[in-house]
Amino acid sequence: MTDLAADLTDHLPHWTDVYRDLHAHPELGFAEHRTAATIVRELTATGGWEVTGRVGGTGVVAVLRNGPGPTTWLRADMDALPVTEETGLAYASAEPGRMHACGHDVHVSALLGACRQFAAHPGAWAGTLVAIFQPAEEIGQGARAMLADGVLERFPRPDLVLGQHVGPFPAGLTATRPGPLMAAADSLRITLYGAGAHASTPQFAVDPIVAAAALVLRLQTFSARQAPVSPATVLTVGAIHAGTVPNVIPHTAELLASLRTFDTGAREKALAEIRRIVRAEAQAQGATREPGLEVYDSFPLTVNTPAATARVAAALNAQPLPAPLAASEDFGAFGTAAGCSSVFFHFGGADPAAFSPDALAGVLRGALPAEVATNHSPRFAPSDRLAVPAGIRHLLTVVAALHAGQEPTPG
Ligand SMILES: [Zn+2]
Ligand SMILES: [Zn+2]
Repeated sequence: MTDLAADLTDHLPHWTDVYRDLHAHPELGFAEHRTAATIVRELTATGGWEVTGRVGGTGVVAVLRNGPGPTTWLRADMDALPVTEETGLAYASAEPGRMHACGHDVHVSALLGACRQFAAHPGAWAGTLVAIFQPAEEIGQGARAMLADGVLERFPRPDLVLGQHVGPFPAGLTATRPGPLMAAADSLRITLYGAGAHASTPQFAVDPIVAAAALVLRLQTFSARQAPVSPATVLTVGAIHAGTVPNVIPHTAELLASLRTFDTGAREKALAEIRRIVRAEAQAQGATREPGLEVYDSFPLTVNTPAATARVAAALNAQPLPAPLAASEDFGAFGTAAGCSSVFFHFGGADPAAFSPDALAGVLRGALPAEVATNHSPRFAPSDRLAVPAGIRHLLTVVAALHAGQEPTPG
């Protein structure tokens, strides 16, 4: 049987170039036009893939059919973050205020590199592969946009959806777990309505800033005293906006909060409790209007199907993650909508030389050497020599294990 990675090393310099180019030209969610054009160009050059652009906005879907066998969706997200890069790399972002600070450029380059190998070695696997290049992961909308645009109906339905994410661990390391892998996340916009007045006459006002302050403390009591402890519900108020000057009590105050939960029941319960607390706190302050509570930028729970996860983890020789991560992904939306198996795993993109043996042992528990920057940091810099090749090899390894091809007939 042909090895899917047989001639991979000949092509790695090209995928490194593609990676550096994507890294230098980051685009935010639903604005990944140049990125999509690069994907279409590379897949067309590879040949064999049926390529469809503009799926769910800037998404690209490519299909490669290779006889009877299972259908696997390989998903890479495409978008960058509104972060100003501070890596000092030669190929650093050329766009001020935008950066591939989460490594989605690694994911795209790795999937493109793997797509080339699948097309070049049809004897090494069987079935159907669908490459899903998804926009707007960071705002939690891209997967839903592709689903709303009929990605399940227009392309072969998956038996398995597979996704990978690069992180600040040594290249060569993969990690995952069955069941809940990453938290559900919801952004909340809470608006408190008071009645403004001169700062010298608070008795004529309903002060929304005092209400907001009380509410922040009350919400912390909720997450510390009422919400499930293990796995923990996390609630963080990340922004408060109210008022403009010292001598005016404003009319309104706005709080932005992030809620992380690890099961659907905990999420529903937390949202109901938060709603009750917000309403009661507003009432306690004599609010002039019902408070507003808007849930936006929702990420679903990422749950790995146990049987499929066991096969993928065995193929990759993945490390077992001891607990779910509080970070979030919208990847899970595909498997949930398709009602199929879903497996997501994390992998290292950093140079192992940066890790002492002691540091290596701590990595899976989230302890990182001080000089290694994490995802979303302006200094996040996966190795341009190691991260993309690692990402390519993972996809080849999993497909070789799950899509075993026919031995060529002799003669
Ligand atoms: Zn991210
Ligand atoms: Zn990411």
